[in-house]
Amino acid sequence: MTIAGVGLIGGSLALAARRAGLVGEVVGLGRGAANLETARQRGIVDRFSHDPLEAARDADLLILAVPVGALAATARACAPALRAGAIVSDVGSVKAMVVREVEAVLPAGLSFVGAHPIAGTERSGAAAADADLFRGSRCILTPSARSMPSATAKIRALWEGLGMQVESMDAQRHDAILAWVSHLPHAIAFSFIHSLAAVDRDYGTYGGPSFRSLTRVVASSPEMWRDIFLANAEQIDAALGHLSSGLDRLQHAIVARDPEALLALLQEAQAAYGAWRPPGGDGA
Ligand code: NAP
Repeated sequence: MTIAGVGLIGGSLALAARRAGLVGEVVGLGRGAANLETARQRGIVDRFSHDPLEAARDADLLILAVPVGALAATARACAPALRAGAIVSDVGSVKAMVVREVEAVLPAGLSFVGAHPIAGTERSGAAAADADLFRGSRCILTPSARSMPSATAKIRALWEGLGMQVESMDAQRHDAILAWVSHLPHAIAFSFIHSLAAVDRDYGTYGGPSFRSLTRVVASSPEMWRDIFLANAEQIDAALGHLSSGLDRLQHAIVARDPEALLALLQEAQAAYGAWRPPGGDGA
């Protein structure tokens, strides 16, 4: 297995798959030496290279785990070295654009199966990798008409073997759901802190538990989130539009000093929240 981008998710996948005995040799691909050296020392990879062709040479399985804006270029650079019949998959947080772009650069004989393990933290790099990261959380697969059923079955078995609940769906549906349950919360947290810092940088030092739980994800990689916002722009824009209307409604009730309207809004939200319990995984 070659892991392109041995960070939090790629590194955790390698650790967990090795522990479960699901893979043989693991080769890391990355840009700088320091992160990959950490990965080797932690036993995440057996060896590594900065050269895509060397890292992917004769691999049966290539997992693309770089930020979504770099996935297709990485797939294109690795593809010529892969073994015939190899499977290519990813862990990207956006699917429609990724499936389209990666499939466009892969030769016909290589099967791509889009995947998104819905687990993570706000930490980055191989130092943050954790073999238990995925257990109990959901993984969404977005196979396309071009994905070989046997390749999809193998990717499903890989994530199930790491203790994930695996579900397949259309890439557009994935992006619509994730816009709400992951991308919007990150957008809110980044935007909230940005606005707060413009008002008074000192206020944040007084934040308690509610402040910390709303803003924890601001420690996440800005490059990764820039790529996600760009790749799922349409769905995130639609979700932001709904949110703006909701905030307008709340603001009107506050400005009007309307206790009934306020209580109704808060109770409606609480009832909706209580009606479901998201499965594990608190990252992206
Ligand atoms: P990460 O810890 O920052 O790891 C990404 C790795 O990719 C880095 O260690 C880096 O390795 C390499 N990389 C970074 N920028 C790159 C670029 N422009 N071109 C090529 N390589 C680059 O990030 P992560 O959290 O593991 O995220 C990786 C993927 O998983 C992303 O597609 C993200 O959308 C997805 N994902 C993230 C989460 C989450 O909670 N964080 C959850 C599910 C899915 P080198 O420095 O060695 O090159």
